[in-house]
Amino acid sequence: MGRLVTFETRGNFSETGHATRGIGAAYRWIEAELKSYSPRLEVRLDRYKVRKQGRIFRDVEIVNVIATLRGTRHPERQVLISGHYDSLNLGQRSTAMNPEAIDAATEKNASAPAPGASDDASGVAATMEMARVLSQYEFDKTLVFAAFAGEELGLVGSTLHAQKAKRNGEIMEAVLNSDIIGTEMGGDGRRDNRRVRVFSADPPDSAPRTLARYIKEVGERYVPALEADLVFRSDRFGRGGDHTPFEREGYAAVRFTSAVENYAHQHTVTDTMENASPAYTAAVTRLKAAVAASLALAPRTPELPSTTSGTRTTISLTRGTGSYAAAMRWHHPAPEPDLAGFAVLVRKTTAPYWEREIFVGKKNDCTLQGLDIDNLVFAVKAIDTEGNESLPAVWVMPARTIPYFEVIDVDSK
Ligand SMILES: [Zn+2]
Repeated sequence: MGRLVTFETRGNFSETGHATRGIGAAYRWIEAELKSYSPRLEVRLDRYKVRKQGRIFRDVEIVNVIATLRGTRHPERQVLISGHYDSLNLGQRSTAMNPEAIDAATEKNASAPAPGASDDASGVAATMEMARVLSQYEFDKTLVFAAFAGEELGLVGSTLHAQKAKRNGEIMEAVLNSDIIGTEMGGDGRRDNRRVRVFSADPPDSAPRTLARYIKEVGERYVPALEADLVFRSDRFGRGGDHTPFEREGYAAVRFTSAVENYAHQHTVTDTMENASPAYTAAVTRLKAAVAASLALAPRTPELPSTTSGTRTTISLTRGTGSYAAAMRWHHPAPEPDLAGFAVLVRKTTAPYWEREIFVGKKNDCTLQGLDIDNLVFAVKAIDTEGNESLPAVWVMPARTIPYFEVIDVDSK
């Protein structure tokens, strides 16, 4: 984290050829570090030439640093861990500025010092440390560690990566993005090093929300001293981050951010190590690592069969024989050799977290007598013999199309 600050600026328009200053020196250092961690880590630079538009006041090259640790059993399934290494100095508090003012200040301060310790050397340090530690082990699924650029220009690097992944049909089970996990001191004097916020987009059983619940359960299981404080909203009010483009493409993507923020140090020259709390960043990193490792070791998520005929979709959750039970079926083709079985999760529609977990063993169906499918949410997850759990598959009520009717005559008095 401290090393990333020494490049003075990692601004997207800063020099690329200098050995120790600017964004070029920064990405070359990240690349070399990642390469040094393990020969099994495949490190590459994804370069994109992006045309002048909006905040991008001249054509620019966006370079994402990507390190891949290939999974041994399900290499096609990825867990992505990310942060953005570019930084920004707007010369003043950015949260009070309108988009046009931010565009103008981006150009005016393009080569000003931008230490970006919390925003987001912290997220990149977490990503790199996870790459270092996790690359010493083997995982069933593929772990991808990404340091994105262009975040401060409108999520450019992450958008390009997410679009490419979607186009190539890549299976990303989870995107764990960290942006501003560097400080435990709020600008209003509050200090909080016991919680980390996890933002996840609506609706209540969206892929990001299901992942957020998993993060709380699994993360707190392994790192009990840190609370994953879920915020049921895609990001802080009116703001966005590198998880947003993945969310847009339909992936389960969330954002980790410190419990409290100091806006006076965001996008300014004071976002320094003196104003950061590396011990807090380390705690968040431990929680994230536990979640990423669990997911990458876990079996695949069960599949929920459904059929569509005309406008009506039928799902594999029904009222069962006699109509007063919750009957459900799922698929799990080619089960993993270490699969222990499946667990059904239940909660009220108004409950934030899963309330009941029922282990059903190696079965592909389950009937819970007396439970009313109208008033409850059901899901199923796969668990291996070491207790690693997949993300649950949730039975979501299918949308129904109501037809409009052609009227011959109206008589209304
Ligand atoms: Zn940021």
